[in-house]
Amino acid sequence: RAKQLGRDLVCEYSTDDMRRMEDRRMLGIRLRHAMQHDELHLVYQPEIRSSDRAVIGFEALLRWNSPEMGLVMPERFIPVAEGLGLMPELGGWVLDHACAQSRAWMDAGLGDFFVAVNVSAQQIQRGNFAEQVAETLRRHGLPADRLELELTESALLENVDRALHSMQQLSALGVHLSFDDFGTGYSSLSYLRQFHVDKLKIDKSFVCDIPRDASSVAIAHTVVAIGHQLHMTVIAEGVETAEQAQLLIEMGCDALQGYLFSRPMKGPAVAEWLADYQVEA
Ligand code: C2E
Ligand code: MG
Ligand code: MG
Ligand code: MG
Repeated sequence: RAKQLGRDLVCEYSTDDMRRMEDRRMLGIRLRHAMQHDELHLVYQPEIRSSDRAVIGFEALLRWNSPEMGLVMPERFIPVAEGLGLMPELGGWVLDHACAQSRAWMDAGLGDFFVAVNVSAQQIQRGNFAEQVAETLRRHGLPADRLELELTESALLENVDRALHSMQQLSALGVHLSFDDFGTGYSSLSYLRQFHVDKLKIDKSFVCDIPRDASSVAIAHTVVAIGHQLHMTVIAEGVETAEQAQLLIEMGCDALQGYLFSRPMKGPAVAEWLADYQVEA
């Protein structure tokens, strides 16, 4: 369509485009408001070790309870927040609340869990990100190895040098680093080691097609092999069936996460869930 624009550079937006832009603008305004008015909260989803089915940690996932729109999921608002440059602030909020929750679990003697926090490109690409993480850990008195940061390939590849710098500092702090949604990007293997990542998360888009789709099975197998060759642990996300869990464990997957074990839950619900889970085990 750009070609047809010709001499008079009129921007030809369709009504759909217009609606989408208006939606994003509205969402952005509401999101700024949400951050200041307590409309955000975190839910936590357990990660389960394959060998003994023990809970090893919880991933924090962001939720937005909007008075106008109801529950809004991150896939809808995080891209908008990124577009508006709100992620450093929003991500800082997430980090702070996840560390506070992790510290509360620690104080309650619930177990030796880490909390995993998703980090976006705008955060990791900032020069002072590792400092911010160190400051947050200090403020909550949280040992660095109780925090794991999940990064996607696209976040790291936006500016490799800056990401490498942050990752190296974070690794030196003793924070665990994991590669989220592994297998969905370009997965430049040569970068893997340099980024100081100690864990790969097999994306749920592959897991959900196991065992039906042979290529997804092959990809999961390959990710496990790559991870182990590079001395990383490998976890599968989005595990919904016992059959998937069984196959992934047979492939050598070190840990599992998904609705089969638990949906993400609010912080205070975790203690009760754990007690039930441990009784069943
Ligand atoms: P992710 O980090 O890959 O998280 C996994 C997503 O899969 C979560 O969706 C989780 O609720 C969902 N999930 C877990 N188990 C299952 C399952 O068995 N079946 C299915 N179908 N889905 C499952 P959610 O919470 O909607 O988050 C979506 C994405 O939004 C996350 O993908 C992550 O990329 C992003 N996100 C969430 N919270 C944050 C945050 O605080 N900061 C940043 N930067 N991104 C976040
Ligand atoms: Mg994640
Ligand atoms: Mg993931
Ligand atoms: Mg994913």
